[in-house]
Amino acid sequence: MEQVIIIGAGPCGLSAAVELKKVGIDPLVIEKGPIVHSIYRYPTYMIFHSTPELLEIGGIPFTTANEKPTRLEALHYYRLVAERHQLRINSYEKVTHIARADGGLQVVSEDRFAQAHHYQCRHLVIATGYFDQPNRLGVPGEDLPKVMSFYQEAHPYTRMKVAIVGGNNSAVDAALDLMRAGAEVTVIHRGAELSPKVKAWTRPVFESMVQKGRIKMLYSSRVTRITERTVEVETPEGPLTLENDFLFSLIGYRPDRTLLASIGVRTDPQSGVPQFDPETMETNVPDVFIAGVIAAGNEANAIFIENGRHHGALIARTIASRLGR
Ligand code: FAD
Repeated sequence: MEQVIIIGAGPCGLSAAVELKKVGIDPLVIEKGPIVHSIYRYPTYMIFHSTPELLEIGGIPFTTANEKPTRLEALHYYRLVAERHQLRINSYEKVTHIARADGGLQVVSEDRFAQAHHYQCRHLVIATGYFDQPNRLGVPGEDLPKVMSFYQEAHPYTRMKVAIVGGNNSAVDAALDLMRAGAEVTVIHRGAELSPKVKAWTRPVFESMVQKGRIKMLYSSRVTRITERTVEVETPEGPLTLENDFLFSLIGYRPDRTLLASIGVRTDPQSGVPQFDPETMETNVPDVFIAGVIAAGNEANAIFIENGRHHGALIARTIASRLGR
């Protein structure tokens, strides 16, 4: 029987693992991809908006030559943390089922060879993040192969007509990147202005490119239909049909709470926030804890690495005190 199983090796799952090790518990982390899978899937050349010390976990310093870390530096850093603390991580193993079992909790996973694994544990930490479930546009054509919810890099889209849906950092960064690589970019945003969260140093560059006509910006507009060659948009001036080769829907993500619900964790129907004690991160189901962005509600961006990394210490303290450590 494992003392603690952590589902998800994102920054917050890893932080929980390190904090548990510090109190003498050696948890098993089960991760469906490589470690920090979400960061691995970020845009290739992404630069964090957080400074490195705000992304640190386990007391291991994260220093970078420039003010903000790159994706590559963060991948390197979290690998280093896992190595230094000798974390037990089963990668490429997806947890498919959790349940109460005699005297503890049961966890079932499937590895990359479709083989099932069964575990028993006393405490479970669910740190499954939000990156697997992009918000949907809810329009016809959304499932065409040219429509993507993850932006990686610009090169494949040179000279292509690319539409980006969204008005936050992901949309603005992708638009600038694509423009520089010679794509014909249109940004479609339902708001009347960009999100206030757009990075202060990117906003003026983006706005200047819109002013110069290098990026076409449609505010207060929404996509109504996507076809192989076009995208139809409702704008304040009336409907518009744009020629289109590729569309990036960068309108955010939301946590998948299937595992939580399956074991009886209640979620507030209004806010979408799971029921948990913020002092301990324990949910309404005894011995089942949550860490990281899974603890956020419909406003998923309320929790990010900077604040979610502290959940692990609360969990470790709670479990340790129950075990009399
Ligand atoms: P995640 O990092 O999403 O990790 C969850 C892990 O669980 C994943 O590895 C996933 O593969 C695994 N998993 C899911 N389901 C299962 C399952 N069933 N079985 C096994 N494993 C599973 N935050 C900041 O603080 N600063 C920033 O500058 C910043 N920049 C960002 C830039 C971008 C482009 C994006 C998209 C996000 C950014 N964030 C930033 C937010 C930050 O990435 C998230 O808040 C953070 O990843 C949350 O960490 P987490 O450990 O809760 O979840």
